[in-house]
Amino acid sequence: MDFPNSLQDQHIEVKKRSSPNFGFLLLFAMSVGLNFYLLIFGGSKPVEMAQAISQEESANLVETQVEGLGPEENISFEEIIPPAPKVQKISFSKSDDIKIGDIAVQSLDFKVRNSLNYTVCKILSRKEGCAALSAHLGRLMSWFFDVNKYIRNDDSMKVVFQKLDGPEQFKILKLSYKSQAFGKTFVANFFDGLDQAGYFDLDGNEIAMRIVESQSPMRTYTEITSLPGDFRKGVGGHSGTDFKAPVGTPVYSGFKGKVVRTNWNVRANGYCVEIDHPQKGIKTLYLHLSRVLVKPGQTVKAGQKVAESGNTGRTFAPHLHYEIQHRKNRDRIYSPFDSKHHKHYTRKIPANRLEQYKKTMTQYDSILKQS
Ligand SMILES: [Zn+2]
Repeated sequence: MDFPNSLQDQHIEVKKRSSPNFGFLLLFAMSVGLNFYLLIFGGSKPVEMAQAISQEESANLVETQVEGLGPEENISFEEIIPPAPKVQKISFSKSDDIKIGDIAVQSLDFKVRNSLNYTVCKILSRKEGCAALSAHLGRLMSWFFDVNKYIRNDDSMKVVFQKLDGPEQFKILKLSYKSQAFGKTFVANFFDGLDQAGYFDLDGNEIAMRIVESQSPMRTYTEITSLPGDFRKGVGGHSGTDFKAPVGTPVYSGFKGKVVRTNWNVRANGYCVEIDHPQKGIKTLYLHLSRVLVKPGQTVKAGQKVAESGNTGRTFAPHLHYEIQHRKNRDRIYSPFDSKHHKHYTRKIPANRLEQYKKTMTQYDSILKQS
């Protein structure tokens, strides 16, 4: 399988120092500009006029900035207050009749307008968790392509999903995305008929890559929920790879090295470990742990258990944040799926499970047809 475009043999520069929030600056400039305009051209009620940009539109402008347009993009005054973009919702089922594992299954069929988040939030409300659902979709899609760059208006998307209780909120069962930028349809089906569940394409190839066990910080995990550069963390992007896993899952050092420090900035990072790997030219960081099993100055072997994963620090659900930095420049972040530092592979559904997988796909497709 090809590597996701955004990850192949490249490192991702992540700005760690707080940079000005461009969306906020834009809104501020707009607000100043609008008041100025009204003062000059005789608007006697600048305050009310300014309120014509509804909160929702303002929020959408910010999102559009964060997810897509760069600062070089020229936005004229007319473009700032657009006619409400139409979201083409083809269907949306909320039926309680269709269930998988006793949880109601829902489906969405729509054309993208502006951004994924904007579109999903025109169909589902904030209260229904539209932002979380679009974040889930964006994460899954980031295995296919760079969602910051290649989403186009009128790309069509079909989703089968379940709403869950708890912080994760949603489980995507099927995603089908027809991309104009790539001239093809990307498909991901959730399948739990293997020892570890995952998302697979129509031929049974896994969508997400896996690090070879001997180099992986985690050998069992539910799924990777975020990659370096992930759009959902806004300007600068996410600096690590998040492995969703229950509290207490063993965490390993993929390479030999020396522990630099532990438990710095516990408020943000939770219990945490940093290991230097001079031979590899990198440092690895492990955050949000429940237990740290090593001490600063200690040397570790490749594959040594160094901690247990947890849910400490600034986090909403149990996971391991695994970060790979250049040894001498911590702003230089690598993806573990960059072939230089970790070997990786993708699974394929074995022949004796293919029949079961096809049945699962048929089930998802029939749900889409019914809605
Ligand atoms: Zn993270």
